[in-house]
Amino acid sequence: MTEHTLTVAGVAVDTRHWIGGERVASTETFPDVSPIDGSVLGEISRGTAVEATAAVAAAKASFPAWAATPRAERARILHAIADGVEKRLEELAIVETTDNGALLRSHRRGVMPRVAHNFRFFADWLLKLEHEDFETRGHTNHVSWDPAGPCVLITPWNAPLMLATWKVAPALAAGNTVVLKPAEWTPLTASLLADIAAEAGLPAGVLNVVQGYGSEIGDALTSHPDVRRISFTGSVPTAKRISASAAANLTPLSLELGGKSPLLVFADADLDLAVDLAVEQYDNAGQVCLAATRFLVQESVAEEFTRRFVEKAGQLTQGDPRDEATDIGPNIHPRQLEKIDGFVQRAIAAGARAVIGGHRGDGQYYAPTLLTDVAQDSEIVQEEVFGPVLTLQTFADEDEAVRLANDTRFGLAATVATGDPERAERVTAQLVAGTVWTNCFFVRDLQAPFGGSRHSGVGREGGTWSFDFYCDLKNTVTAPKGWQSHE
Ligand code: NAD
Repeated sequence: MTEHTLTVAGVAVDTRHWIGGERVASTETFPDVSPIDGSVLGEISRGTAVEATAAVAAAKASFPAWAATPRAERARILHAIADGVEKRLEELAIVETTDNGALLRSHRRGVMPRVAHNFRFFADWLLKLEHEDFETRGHTNHVSWDPAGPCVLITPWNAPLMLATWKVAPALAAGNTVVLKPAEWTPLTASLLADIAAEAGLPAGVLNVVQGYGSEIGDALTSHPDVRRISFTGSVPTAKRISASAAANLTPLSLELGGKSPLLVFADADLDLAVDLAVEQYDNAGQVCLAATRFLVQESVAEEFTRRFVEKAGQLTQGDPRDEATDIGPNIHPRQLEKIDGFVQRAIAAGARAVIGGHRGDGQYYAPTLLTDVAQDSEIVQEEVFGPVLTLQTFADEDEAVRLANDTRFGLAATVATGDPERAERVTAQLVAGTVWTNCFFVRDLQAPFGGSRHSGVGREGGTWSFDFYCDLKNTVTAPKGWQSHE
């Protein structure tokens, strides 16, 4: 234990950066606060351009050797990291819950196993990544996925380690080196990941972790000329700043951003299923980019749907996320709570009616809220709230449902509840979204392309799409033996 260690439920976490295989402290720190009770967990090294530059230099120096490491060896180390995650699963789960307030039972049973799976999946995908050679007038074309170089990966607080490893794993598998910048509200599990990766034998400098406020350290990372890829998950305004910063070097970007996704409920749907899907939208206290926050319900079933939804939502337990019985935990930060309440109060002032909720709870909790009587062009329908706040509108027919569903600047996901397979086919074909679910929600396979349309993102990651982004694709054309150029 050193002055640079904090402990969460007996788990020691180093509060310094991880650069070039060494812990590096900044002179300044920032407090890391738990949303559960507002307690300060510890003081975290507060990075600046100095640490950003050092981390990119470490990533650059370690790149040639890692890029030249045979695929099988890279895959072996990624599996060893997955082993380490599984070994420390309980520790990661309690640290993450304490840091971001999401449910401990989800972290234990869903999220942390998925973190391990991120490494296993991309390790295995790497080994089968190939493109069949093809011929052009007797010449062989050979396509290769060459490592691109140092990658900057910037992640948000709502699912910190899940979203970080969804980027770190394919970037490392591809033979790249990484500088990871976790969100300032939730830096802890990234620090533990650095320990796990080192124990798994990942060479020094291949994974670096720098901490700090995006406004203080971000620019130095995203404008650095030695950075070959930037993958960002977060908000639209930050994405615009990062895009401008990356433009100086034409650094390729992958942007996974916000959403305002619809849940379309047709009169022919299994209403129990539709209500189950609807109530799921309060998961993680509504802090889920993919959440279907706009309910669009066919007029003839709107009343019954609302009745059943209110009944089901009333059964949810809000409270300490470490408690097995809790369904909805706290929101991440007083500032976020302020933002959520601002959206709700402005909506109510503009004529919206709170069917349930519509106000803060105790401490850092927000009452699960459903608003009706909302106009399509209102702020509450058009803007992402990122809290447990849902809206309900009705539609008369399929055309109106599709029109309302597509009428925002976002296009991350959409969910359709219908009992008619032909309707499902017609409607899903017209929806603008990176992912569309029919009669289900949040089924995500790592081999599927993932990303958003319009302001919900740029590019797709997942399976081969991740390698397309993280690699420099090269086509090598070889002439047949004895070929003469005049032939
Ligand atoms: P945010 O944009 O405020 O911050 C995200 C990250 O960017 C943080 O690490 C932050 O420190 C960093 N950052 C801030 N300013 C920066 C700058 N100038 N340069 C570089 N980095 C900078 O987002 P947030 O509030 O942490 O996250 C919530 C948002 O993320 C929501 O909009 C949500 O929908 C979105 N999100 C999207 C997905 C997806 O996969 N599409 C997943 C989760 C969250």
